[in-house]
Amino acid sequence: TEFSSKKVRNVFTDFFKEKYGHRLVPSSPVKPRGDPSLLFVNAGMNQFKPIFLGTADPRSEMTQYRRVVNSQKCVRAGGKHNDLEDVGRDVYHHTFFEMLGNWSFGDYFKEEACLMAWELLTQVYRIPQDRLYVTYFGGDSALGLKSDEESREIWLSMGIESDHVLPFGLKDNFWEMGETGPCGPCTEIHYDHMGGRNAAALVNRDSPEVVEIWNLVFMQYNREADGRLRTLPQHNVDTGMGLERLVTILQGKRSNYDTDLFTPILRAIQESSKGPVYRGLVGEADVGNVDMAYRVLADHIRTLCVCIADGVYPGMSGAELVLRRILRRAVRFSTEVLQAPPGFLAGLVPTVAHILGDAYPELNRETNRIMDIITDNEVAFLSSLKQGRRVIDRTLQKMEDSRVFPVGVAWSLHRNLGFPLDLLGLMLEEKGVAMDTEGLDKLAMENARHKAQTQQSELGSCVELDVHTLAELQRRGVPATQDAPKYAYRLG
Ligand code: ATP
Ligand code: MG
Ligand code: MG
Ligand code: MG
Repeated sequence: TEFSSKKVRNVFTDFFKEKYGHRLVPSSPVKPRGDPSLLFVNAGMNQFKPIFLGTADPRSEMTQYRRVVNSQKCVRAGGKHNDLEDVGRDVYHHTFFEMLGNWSFGDYFKEEACLMAWELLTQVYRIPQDRLYVTYFGGDSALGLKSDEESREIWLSMGIESDHVLPFGLKDNFWEMGETGPCGPCTEIHYDHMGGRNAAALVNRDSPEVVEIWNLVFMQYNREADGRLRTLPQHNVDTGMGLERLVTILQGKRSNYDTDLFTPILRAIQESSKGPVYRGLVGEADVGNVDMAYRVLADHIRTLCVCIADGVYPGMSGAELVLRRILRRAVRFSTEVLQAPPGFLAGLVPTVAHILGDAYPELNRETNRIMDIITDNEVAFLSSLKQGRRVIDRTLQKMEDSRVFPVGVAWSLHRNLGFPLDLLGLMLEEKGVAMDTEGLDKLAMENARHKAQTQQSELGSCVELDVHTLAELQRRGVPATQDAPKYAYRLG
């Protein structure tokens, strides 16, 4: 292909470096450095947060540049930006993705940022202008925030048709890093994959036909702990474009999984699982969820590689618990849907390193360690799954006429073996047996209460619990690791 993913990445950084004098800064690790408001690095701007807030050490190298460009490793699985549930179901949200970005720290502002972005997309990458739609912040009266007419005027003055310039509210066009932190109105660029007449109506509608590609944020505020917006000392530009989505466009595809960032992984999955082939079906059409399993696996193995290389290991709380669940989810999809043999996951690691190792050399350096950690965790999980199945079968035999699974057994499977409750639910459903969810909630609640009384435990270590318990703990003022609880219940 003319635009390999490597080329797309390099063209972006070269454009800002050479044409507009930006300094190329390497990606930070995905493990946040000293920022408890984050589980994982979720955007290119994270490492520059102190510059936005005006708290960076003026002697640090970071503060020497007013124009910066980079390609940042991002993970969105937990916290304010959590895309885990979309992964595999759609073809453009990943748990790990690369964000291409350019920044102005008190240097250029809206007009230059829009001009540069448009020049790059339409003249360098040569994307036809009529396929692009732009959005701007339409204001929010409750918060007393005005519509960003300035951005609208800028786009119109650049010759963009007015029916391609659309206002949206807080949810889409006011970007926030987390519950607290830098934020501001943004203007975004979307791509119409179909060339359809109704594309404008599909912008920001979770449609695979019209997909958001680039976000230009005008960082003007900091969201304080009390929820208020404090105006920042200077005006900044922070942009982020998903590399995978851009590559999809430039390689003439509809799905991120059909680009050179993913196809070698899909091939490796097929070769080592010897299972059914990937057909690229989405949603209802994907009978048996074979294609979803492929996408989930391809996504999760990338995330596992990047996280482990950056020192986040599968574990028991916070980001590490998230990673453990991602690993277990991958193992389940590979064994249950693709009937892949044990050890299969680790076998995909060299392929990921081959694709991403040039851009992120730590993946090459750490290949063996990543494989070892994945294998150890896979073995442990498969063994608890097996033990769990045995307990379930024995219990079912003993149940006789009852159609409700004993809550004590379910609880102990979950607590002691780490057996996923949603999997238990599915297995029971197949046998026409119900799960006593109320009873389980009650047990979880009692357990949490006990824990809270005895050790004032951190919520982070109780994340296996259900939402009610978490709410109860929060009412009691047990400290929470910010991201873990929200994440916990969703995954099951
Ligand atoms: P979406 O609305 O599609 O979920 P977003 O508005 O949450 O995207 P931003 O926070 O604005 O995304 O991030 C900037 C860019 O990063 C997006 O325009 C998109 O290209 C890319 N991006 C965001 N989330 C993901 C993801 N989970 N996987 C791949 N790319 C992503
Ligand atoms: Mg999103
Ligand atoms: Mg969006
Ligand atoms: Mg966005």
